Amino acid sequence: MDMILASRNQKKIRELNAILSDTVPDIRIFSLDDIGFADDIEEDGTTFEENALIKARTAMAAGGNRYPAVADDSGLAVDALDGAPGVYSARYAGGHGDDAANNELLLKHMEHIPDEKRTAQFVSVIACVFPDGHEIVVRGEAKGIILRAYRGEGGFGYDPLFLYLPEAEGEPQNKTFSEMNAEEKNLISHRGRAIQKLAEELRNYLKLKS
Ligand code: IMP
Repeated sequence: MDMILASRNQKKIRELNAILSDTVPDIRIFSLDDIGFADDIEEDGTTFEENALIKARTAMAAGGNRYPAVADDSGLAVDALDGAPGVYSARYAGGHGDDAANNELLLKHMEHIPDEKRTAQFVSVIACVFPDGHEIVVRGEAKGIILRAYRGEGGFGYDPLFLYLPEAEGEPQNKTFSEMNAEEKNLISHRGRAIQKLAEELRNYLKLKS
């Protein structure tokens, strides 16, 4: 099966590639570049679901509606900020993907928010659309607390401010996403959870064995 992956982020491409290859035998994954699509896709939805679907549908159309396409949208939703930065996570402080500025702005907006009200979740939505009109949309979440100072060196984006709240025994305790290695983070992250759900839904839809 051939599938288009509507992402230009190499890290996401690798992660999705790995799980899709494990799930769907004989899958061949093409990037937007592979199919000669060089435009930026405007993410003008107001929810993660809308944006993921916009990207997946645009990619499928770019491939002549011949192949399924998969896309994701993700971000941080802070409860005390009514879900902000939400779908604007990458461009919270203006420039796209300026992690340092985004984190500083988040700290500023949360200066007066007391410790017990600093709950937040990372959200990842993955959409997979098929030429026959079938659409799969899955959501993964990871809950945490927004700290007042950075902790850890790894990861990207809001990772150093996000203290993960474990949901089950054996999960990392008292660690920000920046303090986890990639393997630890993938097991409990919003993206890791969404990817697992996608694998399950794909197996069901394509009637594959696990
Ligand atoms: P996307 O590439 O449109 O999904 O934008 C996601 C944005 O949300 C990123 O630029 C980050 O700011 C934030 N984000 C999403 N997932 C993570 C994560 O795992 N760690 C830190 N920040 C994240």
